[in-house]
Amino acid sequence: MILVIGGAGYIGSHLVKELIKKESVVVLDNLSTGHQKAIDPEAIFVEGDLRNEDLLNIIFSKYPIKGVMHFAANSLVGESVVDPLKYYENNVSATLTLLKVMLKHSVENFIFSSTAATYGIPNVDVIRESTVTNPINPYGRSKLMIEQILADYAKAYDINYVVLRYFNAAGAFETAEIGESHNPETHLIPIILQHLAGYREKVSVFGSDYETPDGTCIRDYIHVTDLANAHILALESLLERRNKTATYNLGNGLGYSVKEVIETCEKVTGIQAKVEIGDRREGDPARLIASSKKIHEELGWKAERDLTEIIQSAWNWHKNQMY
Ligand code: UDP
Repeated sequence: MILVIGGAGYIGSHLVKELIKKESVVVLDNLSTGHQKAIDPEAIFVEGDLRNEDLLNIIFSKYPIKGVMHFAANSLVGESVVDPLKYYENNVSATLTLLKVMLKHSVENFIFSSTAATYGIPNVDVIRESTVTNPINPYGRSKLMIEQILADYAKAYDINYVVLRYFNAAGAFETAEIGESHNPETHLIPIILQHLAGYREKVSVFGSDYETPDGTCIRDYIHVTDLANAHILALESLLERRNKTATYNLGNGLGYSVKEVIETCEKVTGIQAKVEIGDRREGDPARLIASSKKIHEELGWKAERDLTEIIQSAWNWHKNQMY
């Protein structure tokens, strides 16, 4: 049985839909940003908070948990700057409580959701896991702190882990049952699709004077189902003792500019977007592209879905939503 913390959230709920095909699953989620209806009905759901140590002890005593996947975190860069306390409490302190309880119950296998934000503003074209980490905001720092703590714990205690550094997760489940739903929405692809579905007046491009071919920021978009599959391979590598500690990037290895993403959304939907050029958003690096060569070589994973498929799946979900 696998404990998925944050299994009602965007990436966690997609992971549960894939994992449940292979393992029984307990989801712990406080529903602060997740949605109960997104949790696969075959999973056991415990509504509660990760910071509740007593509750964690009950869960680990009650269920035969052999591994933990941890998706529950706050993940908005701007918010982390104005409210760092929230980020260090929810992303760092809560994870320390979890690790403590895992050690107490001798649960050794841990998959940790990390982020491209650990790299800060990299000075390389394609980011490898060996690229220097230098986060520039509390969100990225909160994730890197746990990565560093995990390295120390794995040396001292019986804990094995895989850290997965996500680039830009996007897209929706193949049946369009679940998709990306944040409130407020800040991410590019859902914002464009909400606009094209008639729920936003326009799309604002955050800066067109970056040092990129069309002046807009370049990101590496990765389908949420591809991300989910990487988690399952990572878990198997721990359960089968092929991995003890590992850190992997998860991206397509391809970069698309904001303008290219808007154009692809227009092509997929057949609808013209109303676009305005706005100011840069603070803390946005010009270009973030992952090399995922390491996880390909070690676990055989690669992204299967391209930008058009990402946007098509997201649109299949978005066009049926009411905002
Ligand atoms: N972006 C934009 N307009 C929006 C939202 C995002 O131009 O309304 C840009 C943002 O500046 C970044 C890219 O789209 O360059 C992806 O942003 P998102 O928030 O989706 O992900 P992030 O890269 O911040 O994790």
